[in-house]
Amino acid sequence: MRKKIVAGNWKMNLTREAGTMLISEVVNMVRDEVNSQVQVVLCMPYPYLGFAKRMFRSQANIALGAQNCHEKPAGAYTGEVSASILRSFEVDYVIVGHSERREYFKESDELLAEKVRQVLANQMTPIFCCGESLALRQNGDYVGFVKQQLTTGLFHLPAQDFIRVVIAYEPIWAIGTGLTASPEQAQEMHAALRQHIANHYGETVAAHTTLLYGGSCNAQNAPSLFACPDVDGGLIGGASLKSREFVNICKSLPA
Ligand code: PEP
Repeated sequence: MRKKIVAGNWKMNLTREAGTMLISEVVNMVRDEVNSQVQVVLCMPYPYLGFAKRMFRSQANIALGAQNCHEKPAGAYTGEVSASILRSFEVDYVIVGHSERREYFKESDELLAEKVRQVLANQMTPIFCCGESLALRQNGDYVGFVKQQLTTGLFHLPAQDFIRVVIAYEPIWAIGTGLTASPEQAQEMHAALRQHIANHYGETVAAHTTLLYGGSCNAQNAPSLFACPDVDGGLIGGASLKSREFVNICKSLPA
């Protein structure tokens, strides 16, 4: 059975008081309402990581996530944070290759392959993001493009490492736009990616790979997206900033 995951990506939002309040509300609601088989991940800005874990350490189905890390193990990279620093603060998951980082920070799949290596070498789980632009969706081989992102970013890994990676399909045209992929569009891509993984690593590895959907997911559309056979949960941006909405999304994921 593959893991079912809902991960919240706060991005660069919420100062200390509001962020602490959000963590505490989510922790209480997840404890009382969310099936313990669903793994909830909170990916917050770096300064929270030092204390957030203490707020949910006793709750096994909430994990701590970061939104990025540097591709080098250590050194003179002022302002950057390495995977080993994250692990020393008990981070469990790291988002790698979010489309905002690909676009604004020019992160290539080759660079992301290095980040994935660092995350895995430090016993954390990468959430590897992929997805096509609107122009590609309308006029190009969008499935082929996303498959290639996986090939370059991940297929250098041996199977025993690849199996530890979570993949998030996030069509760029759906992120923060209110334009969600339909369940049919999400399923089409997820099934194609699972087949792509099967072709490279075999059916068993593919069947165990967790594939998340992300892009304007909310409590209304999550149930139909999560009902798709190849959608194993979600990566949630804007809606993860509202405790009730986020926990309702978590509750709609069949365990
Ligand atoms: C995201 O940034 O990963 C995301 C899915 O954002 P949103 O849910 O706001 O579209």
